[in-house]
Amino acid sequence: SSPFSNLSVIPLDPHYALKELFNADHDPKKVILGSGVYRDDNSKPWVLPSVKKAEELVDQAQDSARYEYLPITGYAPFYNAARDLLFGPFDEKAVHVVSLHTISGTGANHLGARFLSDALRPSSVWLSDPSWVNHANIWGLVGVTVKLYPYWNREKRVLDFEKMIEKLETEAATGDVIVLHACAHNPTGVDPTKEQWKRIAEVCEKRALFPFFDCAYQGFATGDLDEDAWAVRHFVERGTLEIAVAQSFSKNMGLYGERVGAFHLVTASPDSAAKAKGHLTRLQRGQISQPPTRGSKLATTILTNPRLFQEWLADLREMSSRIKNMRKALYEELLSLGTPGTWDHIVSQIGMFSYTGLSPEQVATVQTDNHVYILKSGRISVAGLNTKNVKHVAEGIDAAVR
Ligand code: PLP
Repeated sequence: SSPFSNLSVIPLDPHYALKELFNADHDPKKVILGSGVYRDDNSKPWVLPSVKKAEELVDQAQDSARYEYLPITGYAPFYNAARDLLFGPFDEKAVHVVSLHTISGTGANHLGARFLSDALRPSSVWLSDPSWVNHANIWGLVGVTVKLYPYWNREKRVLDFEKMIEKLETEAATGDVIVLHACAHNPTGVDPTKEQWKRIAEVCEKRALFPFFDCAYQGFATGDLDEDAWAVRHFVERGTLEIAVAQSFSKNMGLYGERVGAFHLVTASPDSAAKAKGHLTRLQRGQISQPPTRGSKLATTILTNPRLFQEWLADLREMSSRIKNMRKALYEELLSLGTPGTWDHIVSQIGMFSYTGLSPEQVATVQTDNHVYILKSGRISVAGLNTKNVKHVAEGIDAAVR
């Protein structure tokens, strides 16, 4: 008999399970608000106009080396431009950054988790409760104990900030890693304020916690690249902390399947940076040898060509403002229906997602009665809403909560 028959059964990832149910539904009114992917007002994927122009430029170059292997650390013009976008100008004498081009944000999270688990041997990693589902999966795969810090206050539908701080101050051990969402927290859409970020940094200093930022939505949250990088830059500017960042261009450039991302480690000394670079390069060699080329060339073209960069900013504003408009539309539909409960959080949350506060039972009712597919947690991907389906979704939510 096969030894694999002794394996436990792993349930399908909730996003993919929801997608399968949606695909099997043939009702014309069906709507899916599951995965974090941008859709236009016709529910179609949107290739950013700036990306289309970058494609032309990359293709025109007809570079004979275009299918060659990249170095192990990836395409240097890409990870340098990505670093500058994230950190802005920084003091290169005081701050030493090691950057590697990765298989998008997931690859950067995994490379970082593996590296930090080897280098720091943390007793635990602290994730927000809740967090992007893959965080616990990734840290579990590298064998680090996952612990949760309070984040979402279910009753009040706000950040549970004091509880978060208290937990970290009393229970996190020296050298533990804390994963922080740089902006547009997934799944809640609730971010700390600047004052709260400063207190989180203080706790990291006081307890010697290692902050690992996950930055998957720069420019997508507010439409402003600098504003969305504020927390990361603040942690660096304090000059007291070493940090890591996993950076993704899936959402802000709509390059999901191209897998474009970077891992950055900010260290206090050139010696640490050089040693860390060696270890990260060895890990990357063992995991993927070298990252893929095309997506990173598209991103580099946008980041380094001033005209395309401006066009990209306009594309970012288009995506973030459509999402904001959809938040407002859903909120207004619910108000006009007189739906019981408060719904202000739908407009105050930012980024791609909204944690609606719907219970698993209510989610099931909206699915069965209205063919609206939402994750059990009640999280909706606001990008799945459009001017044609928002009323239908609001009516479904209204009926389910009554
Ligand atoms: N981190 C967070 C918080 C995310 O929401 C996502 C995507 O949904 C990712 C990382 C990684 O995405 P990708 O691997 O496509 O960059």
